[in-house]
Amino acid sequence: MKKDHVKVWDSCLSIIKDNISLQSFKTWFEPILPVKLKGDVLTIQVPSQFFYEWLEEHYITLLRKTIKRELGTEGRLEYSIVMENNYRNTKPYTVKIPTKNKPLRNDPINVPLNVNRSAIKNPFIIPGLKKVNVDANLNPSYTFDNFMEGDCNRLARSAGYAVASKPGGTSFNPLLIYGGVGLGKTHLAHAIGIEIKDQFPDKIVLYVSSERFTHQFIDSVKNNETNDFIHFYQMIDVLIIDDIQFFAGKEKTQDVFFHIFNHLHQTGKQIILTSDKAPVDMQGVEQRLLSRFKWGLSADLQAPSLETRIAILKNKMYQDGIELPDDVIEYLAYSITTNVRELEGALISLIAQSSLNKKAVNLDLAKQMIDKFVKNTAREVSIDYIQKVVSDYFNMPVELMKSKTRKREIVQARQIAMYFSKKLTKSSLASIGMQCGGKDHATVLHACKTVNNLLDTDKTFRKYITELDKKLNVS
Ligand code: ADP
Ligand code: MG
Repeated sequence: MKKDHVKVWDSCLSIIKDNISLQSFKTWFEPILPVKLKGDVLTIQVPSQFFYEWLEEHYITLLRKTIKRELGTEGRLEYSIVMENNYRNTKPYTVKIPTKNKPLRNDPINVPLNVNRSAIKNPFIIPGLKKVNVDANLNPSYTFDNFMEGDCNRLARSAGYAVASKPGGTSFNPLLIYGGVGLGKTHLAHAIGIEIKDQFPDKIVLYVSSERFTHQFIDSVKNNETNDFIHFYQMIDVLIIDDIQFFAGKEKTQDVFFHIFNHLHQTGKQIILTSDKAPVDMQGVEQRLLSRFKWGLSADLQAPSLETRIAILKNKMYQDGIELPDDVIEYLAYSITTNVRELEGALISLIAQSSLNKKAVNLDLAKQMIDKFVKNTAREVSIDYIQKVVSDYFNMPVELMKSKTRKREIVQARQIAMYFSKKLTKSSLASIGMQCGGKDHATVLHACKTVNNLLDTDKTFRKYITELDKKLNVS
């Protein structure tokens, strides 16, 4: 005898009704429409994604038992979600959920994006019991709160925030964040995703590295599932792809990304990309993609200033509940200037060292540690640090040393700072001059000559230099 979907669902409802409150029943089960019964699969229609998630979260066990009772052990439930959607091509899509009580890990969920009869197998969602929502793949510790603001990142940060408050609704689409290694691109990308999830829980957000995207694509080609791959990505509301410089030279991947990009952009979805290069420098990336990147906003991340580096360190310590003396923090911030990841790495090894040796971290320990740490990463003391050490040594404020004053002691300190900058850094004369109070390269050259002369002729002066040399070259 053939069962019919309305009857089956009715019987299910009578079981469900006995197991939950009337209020819940009215709210969550009355709006459901039975759609069809095919073999052991009953399809029901729910009014929204949220609705479906709620059912999955709160009633999965009950539903599972009920379906089993009505349709036998092979019984399955399939949802058809009619999304409220602002775009013209509103098409319902179906989410198939195995309701059998077995591990869901290997059970693909079907997410056909259109009413196409043949169900499209989608291997790209890892099904969970509660929500079969796409796992956004976001790192919860990379938030806006934790992302210290400075001149180096102000534009990117505020653009990111604007995008998060209105995904797809600003002119920053795509938002391309670019900048050197360890400057916070990944952190900011996650922060945007987290903020969107916070403000718009219903939006499907996905963070994916370009490598993962590439591998998924290659696999899909191998398995003849390219359509599923594309459909899956076209369903995302906020797509975040990290390190797109890896797309360089991968024509097929760029091709498929191009299609996905166009679809998302046309339907008002938000795209966020990061790269370690500015668009102009992305060799091996097709022109048509590069030109699309220009549709939105490209915002760069610069190396943080000293103040920002200190703020980052202090925030990190605060997060981790660590305390360190200010001079240690300053030394760290002065020593590592171009990469926040290394800055944090040094902080962590410092803490590890001190807890290992049961020694409090003082400046000496910090110096030993950091110098070792930094040496491995081609260390160079910074001009900032040299200026600080020299001005401390002569007991004068750094600003005074960098000022235009012609007073003799100050001129001398300034010349010494220039001398050490030349000796200990790879900076050019011009750049040293710039950083030591806006002087030109000739002034720096003159300073170096003067210091060398005095070293030969003046004993007291030689003592200054020797002592400063020690302070600057702890090994
Ligand atoms: P990128 O992706 O640019 O290589 P990451 O985003 O991985 O860099 O950042 C490296 C580390 O530095 C991360 O731990 C990140 O939290 C931290 N970081 C970078 N910039 C900041 C910032 N402005 N405030 C706080 N932490 C930061
Ligand atoms: Mg990164």
